[in-house]
Amino acid sequence: MKFDTAYSVSLDDKLSIYDVRELNFDETAAYDSDKDRFLCPNDACRAAFETGNVLGTYNAKNVNYQRTPHFKNTPSTEHIEGCRYASSHKPAAGESDDAREDNFPSEFVLTRRTYARITPVVDAEGQAPQAPAQTPSGRPPAAVSASDGTPDKTSVFAHPVECYVSNIDHKDKLKAMPLKIGEHSATYWAFFKKIEYLQDNHGLIYWGKIKAIKDYTSSFRIDFEKKVWLDKKPYSVNVYLSKKLIENYRKRKAFLEQIKAAASSERPLYCFFYGVTPALKQVPSKKNPEQTFGVFSANIENLDHLIIREVPMLE
Ligand SMILES: [Zn+2]
Repeated sequence: MKFDTAYSVSLDDKLSIYDVRELNFDETAAYDSDKDRFLCPNDACRAAFETGNVLGTYNAKNVNYQRTPHFKNTPSTEHIEGCRYASSHKPAAGESDDAREDNFPSEFVLTRRTYARITPVVDAEGQAPQAPAQTPSGRPPAAVSASDGTPDKTSVFAHPVECYVSNIDHKDKLKAMPLKIGEHSATYWAFFKKIEYLQDNHGLIYWGKIKAIKDYTSSFRIDFEKKVWLDKKPYSVNVYLSKKLIENYRKRKAFLEQIKAAASSERPLYCFFYGVTPALKQVPSKKNPEQTFGVFSANIENLDHLIIREVPMLE
């Protein structure tokens, strides 16, 4: 059983695993998920146990992951009867329980979520934020409360991207799941646009296979393998990431680890980004500076809205 969300004791709030990853990589926040405790998101179930009844995490800290991050039961995690997070459903042989992200947020929020803090977990003795409630005798508590629902919005780009990537062979599902970004509502299928078709529409999530990553003095350049065709001519596509932007990024270390590993990787990698649409520009030719050539290019403005990763199902 994988969990889309869990209750964090140190934040006194429900978090997705993508929120946890954000917090782990954020160098401006003192947070380490190994020191936090994650409990069942079902309020009634959580209230029935001590705060030692924890869940485990999967891929909470791995910068470059292939398999979907999630919360999971540990061998000793207990749930009340009827809790939908109890491990009653055992995956059938050959069926991998955690191979897909099936919690599709219906909105990708462009402003970052702020996480309210509470006192650290260490001195929670006797003042646990969620005091174990007494179960009324003879009557099991309601297993599912109204607030048990999965958070429907996310501000972490990796989350909708994981939904898309892990379900890339489920076209019907992607066409059925709604997604809202800013003022624009569409489906997951419509929002993710292959880079070679970027002229079809502005304001989408563009993605494509990376041909090369160039490390320049003041920027990185990501070149895409596929070209854009305009007036029967092919044009290269690239995006620039300013090193100044990276220097000031709150997840600087994780980002540099990701892009440096990608630049030297032999494995097929893909870049996903949102917020800018590469446009046709004339740039001087290296060999002959008097000449120019056309290229579709954009400067990435927000590193939160760019991801480099593998897409295992395409290989
Ligand atoms: Zn539970």
